[in-house]
Amino acid sequence: MEKKDIDWSNLGFGYQVADYRFVANYKDGKWDDGEITTEATVTLSECAGVFQYAQTCFEGLKAYTTEDGKIVCFRPDLNAQRMADSCERLKMPVFPVDRFVKAVEEVVKANAAWVPPFGSGATLYIRPYMMGTSPVIGVKPAEEYQFRIFVTPVGPYFKGGAKPITIRVSDYDRAAPHGTGHIKAGLNYAMSLYQIVDAHEKGFDENMYLDPATRTKVEETGGANFIFITKDGKLVTPKSDSILPSITRRSLMVVAEKYLGMEVEHREVLLSELSDFAECGLCGTAAVISPVGKIVDHGKEICFPSGMDDMGPVTKKLYETLTGIQMGKLEAPEGWVDVIMEE
Ligand SMILES: *Cc1c(COP(=O)(O)O)cnc(C)c1O
Repeated sequence: MEKKDIDWSNLGFGYQVADYRFVANYKDGKWDDGEITTEATVTLSECAGVFQYAQTCFEGLKAYTTEDGKIVCFRPDLNAQRMADSCERLKMPVFPVDRFVKAVEEVVKANAAWVPPFGSGATLYIRPYMMGTSPVIGVKPAEEYQFRIFVTPVGPYFKGGAKPITIRVSDYDRAAPHGTGHIKAGLNYAMSLYQIVDAHEKGFDENMYLDPATRTKVEETGGANFIFITKDGKLVTPKSDSILPSITRRSLMVVAEKYLGMEVEHREVLLSELSDFAECGLCGTAAVISPVGKIVDHGKEICFPSGMDDMGPVTKKLYETLTGIQMGKLEAPEGWVDVIMEE
């Protein structure tokens, strides 16, 4: 199969129309068979549920080429299950987990020419999402839905090495107590846009959101979970019902314990204990781990001993082990790497 003529190493993180996408429709209480199509445009009623009451949720994962030439993706079953959880919370019909995984595989296979080659640092970003399509004007769930998966090639997240970033403590919340912080709903992102634009204008890379009830505990950023390393080498990750359960974070917890022999704590993390940690990072599908050098809490700077030049040593080990597993250099736990094509 001939690859697309793309300068893979210089791709950014933007949308580019690929050849094929998967589309399935829900009507009269059931999903149709779905199909792979070349139609990249969606035409909907002006009154569709997604436009009126934001009935939509999404997922994000990546396909990439391993050193031995296989096209794989990472734990797609967890994306399928998380999307099922999101749909239940938003009164949307679940797209069955096994069909979700099959559809991801199908759409990646169809777009094999768009999967970046090994060593380029680029990946094929996969975006499954669902929306209410039938007209809704009284407040209630839509009756019809569309589930789509498109793909788009994206460049290496860090060009020229992972430089530590600076985060500020946000004055706004991203989630409410007992709200929707734990699901991947578009609405959570809409309400974070004001804050991220403001943070960038003021020279910060990201916002740290606190627990919405007491504002004393660390939650996450707009799109990534936190990891912390203690001075004695433990991995600590914040626990809360309003944090989105990152698949990268859950995988790193296993890597730390099973591959690196580290102690792992998944617990509440107080804002007031941040200065006790040796290293800090953000984790998510896009970057795997972004090192955090500094957190600014209303003028008060918390600088991690790992500094602003490099990823901390333990964070780096975690990063290298997880990406080694993803790229097929290290043996993966059962079921983590889903082989889509053997070349
Ligand atoms: C998607 C997302 C993450 C990262 O999850 P991964 O499964 O690791 O990609 C973290 N926080 C929020 C709010 C998210 O939407």
